[in-house]
Parts: sequence; C-alpha cells; structure tokens
Amino acid sequence: METFDTAVVGGGLAGLGTASLLHQRGDNVVLFEKENEPGGKVRSVREDGFVVEMGPLGWLDREPVVGDMVSNLGLTPLIADDVQKDRSLYKDGGLIALPSDGKSFLMSKVLPFSAKLRLGCEMFIPAKRDGEESIHSWATRRLGRHVATTLFGAMVSGIYGGDPEKLSVHAAFPMMAGWEFESGSCMRGAMKHIRKKGRDIREGRLRKTSGTLCSLPGGLGDFTDTIAAQLGSNYRGGKGLDEVVPNGDGWDLYQDGEIVATAKNLVLAVPAREAARLMGVVGKDLVPVADSIPGNNLCVVTGAWRRDKVKDALRSFGFIALRNHGFRPLGVQYASSIFPDQSPSDMVQLRVLIGGSFDPDVADLNDQDLEAECFGPLHDLLGVQGDPERTWIRRVAGGIPQYTIGHLDRIAAFDAKEKLYPGLHFAGDSLHGVGVNAVLKRALVVADRIRV
Ligand SMILES: Cc1cc2nc3c(=O)[nH]c(=O)nc-3n(C[C@H](O)[C@H](O)[C@H](O)COP(=O)(O)OP(=O)(O)OC[C@H]3O[C@@H](n4cnc5c(N)ncnc54)[C@H](O)[C@@H]3O)c2cc1C
Repeated sequence: METFDTAVVGGGLAGLGTASLLHQRGDNVVLFEKENEPGGKVRSVREDGFVVEMGPLGWLDREPVVGDMVSNLGLTPLIADDVQKDRSLYKDGGLIALPSDGKSFLMSKVLPFSAKLRLGCEMFIPAKRDGEESIHSWATRRLGRHVATTLFGAMVSGIYGGDPEKLSVHAAFPMMAGWEFESGSCMRGAMKHIRKKGRDIREGRLRKTSGTLCSLPGGLGDFTDTIAAQLGSNYRGGKGLDEVVPNGDGWDLYQDGEIVATAKNLVLAVPAREAARLMGVVGKDLVPVADSIPGNNLCVVTGAWRRDKVKDALRSFGFIALRNHGFRPLGVQYASSIFPDQSPSDMVQLRVLIGGSFDPDVADLNDQDLEAECFGPLHDLLGVQGDPERTWIRRVAGGIPQYTIGHLDRIAAFDAKEKLYPGLHFAGDSLHGVGVNAVLKRALVVADRIRV
C-alpha cells in the first residue's frame, strides 16, 4: 500500500489544478480519476484542423492564478480575436447587439429608455443586508424589472443555463451581492472595487489582467493533458475510488473494497453528491445537502460548414437567447471567429448550447433531433445553407450545478465537515463557483491550506 502527502479525487479542472499546484510545490500528491481521459467537463477534440471544445470554450483572463498555472506548465495562451468583445442577444425574434460600454449602453436598443432611467436610480435604493435572495428578485429590486429580465436573464442563461428566480444571488454572483452589503449600492460598490483594483495594481499587490477570453492552441484539453502528464505515474486514471475512510492521521483510500493508498490530506474534487457518498458513514449527513444541489443537463452541438455556405460574416462572439423568445438553444458561439486558428480557414465552426433549467429533457433528444433544434433556426438567422459537413455532439448530464436559494447553508455544511477532519478539503464547481476561473481559484485556496 502506498502513502502520499495528499490524495486528490477527481481529474477535472479542480482536481488537476489542485494536484498541479501541490506537485509544483514539492508535495507527494496522487490523483484518482474514474474516467480514462483526464479533464472531466473539459474535453477538446482535435481532428483535421479543427479544435472542437465539447465542454468549456475558454476562460476570461481575470484571475492571475489561471495565467500563472498556464505559464508554469510551459503553455502559451491563445488569445481570442477582438470580435469576441461584440456579443448579441436574441430577443423578440432577432439579434440585438449588447452594449460594451457606457456610451453604447445609452444608445442601445436592448433596454427601453425608462429602464435606463430606473437603472440610474440604483444608488438611491435602500440596501437590504439580510437573507439570501434570488437573482431575479435582487436585480429587480436594485436595478429594475427590465434589467432583471433582459440583462440578468441573459447572464444567468450564459453562465448557468439557469432560472434567475431560483438561483441565489449571494451564491451565484457573490461579488455583486457583496457590493450592496458593503457599500449600500451595487454601483457604488462596483466603483469602489474598480478604484481599489487600480490601486492594488499600481502598488504591485495585484497583477494586471486583460479580461480577454483565452484558450490554448489545442483547446483547454492542453491544460488538463499537460497536468496529467506532469503527474506521471501519480496520475491514476481509468478507475475511481469507492470509499475514503478517516484513519485518525489521514485517510485510507479504497478501490474494490481494498485499501490502495493512504494520504495525510484528501481533496475531494468530485461533484458534491459523489464526495458525500465517497465519505460513507462520516459523509452521511452531507448526502441530503448535496442532493439538494441540482445540476442542469446541457448539450454542446457543434457544426462545421464551408465558409461560402454561411451568409453572415459572423464578426462577433455570438449570441445568448432570452428564454421564451422563440429560440430553443441557450445560445450560439461563433467558434471559428473567436479562435480562428481552431478551424480550417475555409470552414466556419458554430457551437450551439442547448438545455438548462427550462429545457431539462433535451438530453433525451436523439442526435438528429438535436441537430434539427440547434442548426435549423440558423438557416434564417445567419443565412446558413444546408446541413453541416461535420457535427460533434456531447451531452453533459447535470453539467452545470445550480446554486439555488439555500446554497450558502450547503457550503457551510461542507465547511463544517472540513473543520471536523483537518486535512480534508472540497473543491470543484458544485460548491464554490462555476467555471474555469472559479474552480482554479478554489484550487489555489486548497493548495495554500495544505502547504501552510
Ligand atoms: C457544456 C459546458 C460548457 C461550459 N463552458 C464554460 C466556459 O466556456 N467557461 C468556463 O469558465 N466554464 C465553463 N463551464 C463550466 C466548467 O467547465 C466547469 O465549472 C469546470 O470544468 C468544473 O470542473 P470540476 O473539476 O469542478 O468538475 P468536473 O469537470 O465535473 O470533474 C470532476 C471529475 O471527478 C471525476 N470523478 C467523479 N467521481 C469520481 C470517483 N469516485 N473517483 C475518481 N474520480 C471521480 C469525474 O469523472 C470528473 O472527471 C462549462 C461547463 C459545461 C458543462
């Protein structure tokens, strides 16, 4: 039986990120991943000049830890084309450009004039500092009904594929909720935050980030593959752990009823439900807590057409579709415009996301029906002619955890378990934030706690 400083369970971004940070700091770390391929939700298909992302498309350069990890792995980020700054909204049967700054916001047709005036009153709305609140209720109260349904509706669709009336603003958008709490107003808080960030950058406490969308030449899979390779024989893929049992001085790790390793520290970077199950008797009380974190089914349906078969110039990131406006998918990303090097120059790659809270049965559709739902509406909207020459489909069951009201209590329950078992840590997008930046930021927190 082998002994390690740290065992990480789960080879998605969270687990690989934590293991990589610890490995680079000299920890004897082992990682167990149940699937044959590393990456979890990250999956990049590379074939015939295409890089097709079957999970996340990229990350926004906002968290220094991500850029640091990429460069420490010897990788060079692929920066998205400038077109990615332009995004649209599908509303009332057509596309409307989303404003990118204050001036374009004032001119934009995305909101009526009255809604812009209402937004301007935000600073005068009294602050509410108690209780968890839904995103929709919070945004309506602070910013007005139109902003809540249109802008926040789009944001929640784009990030969570979720229902703004169910998600908790304090868990899903903690920074915004914090601005109200600390400064009495979201706008005052945002301005204070921007000023502080500027000061921290000028005085060397924070590194400047570009805010641009990034990936890697071979897709995000370059990141996860490189970490798995870096871990060498301490990356154990293809077989999951069945149980983890505290032994007084650390953890015993079980596969097929046998102890395969022990470790002083244990990082559970698997979905919360799986983490609770793995802990057996000592995780029993976490099972109902984890079960109350729903996950949305999501499908990524990507098609490639010859460039001359698409009339629209596709000079933007793509669009998010507001719910109940006649367009079933959540949105379309113009992948070949965002990262031109990831498609052959004579081809167009369009990535359609479909599913989410309002469309839970989407994963039951067969490939043909999925393609019809995703690509059919693009004929009129973008002037796409005929069927794609190639198609890639991935169904991600429970793909995006939903931080519904009560999520803060769920985090507290998992935090309490960490306190009870020093050396135990939870990572991953079930609890502390969805997305590349959030899970890697949490990976750094966990790695720092282990290497005090
Ligand atoms: C379709 C889609 C598009 C997305 N787009 C973006 C985007 O563009 N930008 C962005 O920032 N984020 C995006 N996200 C979110 C982002 O991908 C996730 O938040 C992130 O990848 C989660 O990483 P994770 O490690 O927490 O979880 P996972 O990737 O789910 O990893 C968990 C791992 O644990 C393993 N595991 C489970 N049980 C066991 C066990 N018993 N033993 C061993 N291993 C086990 C699983 O096999 C899995 O590999 C997207 C998500 C989806 C689904």
